[in-house]
Amino acid sequence: SDVGSQKERVVTEEEWLQKWEMGNIGFHKEQGHPLLQKYLDVLLNGRSGLRIFFPLCGKAVEMKWLADMGHSVVGVEVSEQALKDFFSEHNLPYCEEPVPEISGGKMFQSTSGNISMYCCSIYDLSSSIVGKFDGVWDRGALVAVNPCDRQRYASLMINLMEKNSSYLLVTVSYDPNKHKG
Ligand code: SAH
Repeated sequence: SDVGSQKERVVTEEEWLQKWEMGNIGFHKEQGHPLLQKYLDVLLNGRSGLRIFFPLCGKAVEMKWLADMGHSVVGVEVSEQALKDFFSEHNLPYCEEPVPEISGGKMFQSTSGNISMYCCSIYDLSSSIVGKFDGVWDRGALVAVNPCDRQRYASLMINLMEKNSSYLLVTVSYDPNKHKG
């Protein structure tokens, strides 16, 4: 059944890199997500200067938005092209350095220091490398995780959260027999 085949669905990192290379990135939105605007107060919960994590960040424009509000943003993304596009599309100077704990891993950081993005698989991260976060914006992340990796993803996210952190998840509830993919 479709339900069964969706559970076994696997999109490899190589396939994601190809999507970026081909410009097949229909998931990217130029406008900030309306649900982040709507629930921003829930994310912040009266706090300022938060550390906010963007799993599977792509070149999400909300990173710039939150950084401009005085928060410090950390993302992770396998596609180096996505990260470079992010900085160039926002005219932000950045520097690039290797991450010694992660083989082949690199960190891209805005010169102003408030936006850092790790170029590696999210599964290479741990709180000893990136620290813990006060908030998480998960849009196009859990929903893009292969079903076989969901448990691992959830455990990692819990590990990366501070005690009082808030997690905004954009997800969908649907009948898999009626909608594919
Ligand atoms: N959150 C972004 C991008 C969503 S698409 C947005 O809202 O626009 C999912 C992104 O995750 C893609 O850019 C893909 O390259 C990246 N990705 C897929 N698997 C990954 C992994 N294991 N680690 C890090 N990034 C990954």
